[in-house]
Amino acid sequence: MEEPRRTKIVATIGPATATREMVSELVRAGMDGARLNFSHGTRADHAERARTVREIQEEAGRPLSLIADLQGPKLRIGDLPAPVYLKVGDEVVVAGGDVARDGELPVWPAVIGTVLRPGHAVMIDDGLVRLRVDDVTSGRARCAVLSGGPVSSQKGVNLPGVPLPIPSLTRKDLDDLSFALDLGVDFVALSFVRSVADVTDLRKILEDSGSKARVIAKIEKAEAVASLDQILAEADGVMVARGDLGVEIGPASVPLLQKRIIAAALERGTPVITATQMLESMIHQAEPTRAEASDVANAVLDGTSAVMLSGETAVGEYPIQAVEYMDQIARAVEPSLGYRHQLPGASEEPTIGRAMSNAACDLAEVLGAKALVVPTFTGRTASAVARLRPHRPILGLTHHRYALQQMAIEWGVEPIEIPECSDVADLWNRSLEAARASGFVSPGDRVVITGGTAVNIPGSTNVIKVDIV
Ligand code: PEP
Repeated sequence: MEEPRRTKIVATIGPATATREMVSELVRAGMDGARLNFSHGTRADHAERARTVREIQEEAGRPLSLIADLQGPKLRIGDLPAPVYLKVGDEVVVAGGDVARDGELPVWPAVIGTVLRPGHAVMIDDGLVRLRVDDVTSGRARCAVLSGGPVSSQKGVNLPGVPLPIPSLTRKDLDDLSFALDLGVDFVALSFVRSVADVTDLRKILEDSGSKARVIAKIEKAEAVASLDQILAEADGVMVARGDLGVEIGPASVPLLQKRIIAAALERGTPVITATQMLESMIHQAEPTRAEASDVANAVLDGTSAVMLSGETAVGEYPIQAVEYMDQIARAVEPSLGYRHQLPGASEEPTIGRAMSNAACDLAEVLGAKALVVPTFTGRTASAVARLRPHRPILGLTHHRYALQQMAIEWGVEPIEIPECSDVADLWNRSLEAARASGFVSPGDRVVITGGTAVNIPGSTNVIKVDIV
């Protein structure tokens, strides 16, 4: 069997890829996770796409992660009768959607008039149009146009560095969330996270609703960068959301920040997705630019768990080719990735799970084992092993459907279904059987197994065993 790709690929499903044929092609090309972007499309669209993803998952016999990406507290231009073209040197008034008059730019939610001060920047459409606030009277901000361009209805508005008095989950997000949970999504991505409280608030809602979905915190605001450690400690995953991050902190600061976020996530063992404009030119061209190929390669070398496609697969002309290129680029550079051998430091909290994972990886490296076999209840032990980026594939075995699907976007993990087992001998035998059947290992291969003797109790990893398949 071909060496599996370790870095996972998330593709946004949109009008260009919503059919069964296209989803099936995306999976064949290497898609591991499908993202539903609730900033666009109708609920009916998302429901249909979620159904299609699950059907193709069954057909392909490969678990897929389904991610609902909530819009979050994004400011947007309201309805304009026609697009407005702003030129450098023009003056324009920006006002809350509830008070804006004809000829002014309405913005929703309508908090803008209360938060803007002279000197603030107003960035429209990912910063393509840039305004400077010169004066604010009665909730109306008179602005100078610093970078011109067209402004049309629903374009995004960013106010870098300006705290917004709106909740992290808007009314629309709460409605979308309950809809997405009914669709059985595996992850909920939270946009514009500002503090760890945003993550805990979402987690509480998930827990109260009995959902197993995990929380991905999108890092796209300076406030989130400032609270990165606390957010990483609480979130199940993070996304380097380079689109809005670039608008908020400036494109020049994004590359180093990407490396910092990935390094911090790796240290914690938190899965991290690198997103936005990775193969942007492939929206209209069949070949990536060399700069884009380098960008994907660098994210892989940084150690990202997954790379993500947005417009390329949602509305692009070459969605399948974009996934194929990501697959090829990742495979080309992964042999250069180093194993993160680590002796748990004295400063680290000495958890048994982490020490066991370290030891299992060391054994697998030293003995040239063919795979790390990891029976896991929730998938967390597989995450702990993946944190070290071992050279051997990690076979994550569980009877929980949600854990299989969540492991699909975990670096280096091949999720494999096993039946529920009642004792440890049965669990390990069935794990070896499933590992053989998966084709990742062959009879006679050496493997390292790590898991818990207390079967079906999460967090009980306490044994390592070297075995022959
Ligand atoms: C981003 O801003 O980079 C991002 C991933 O979020 P969205 O696509 O929702 O703008």
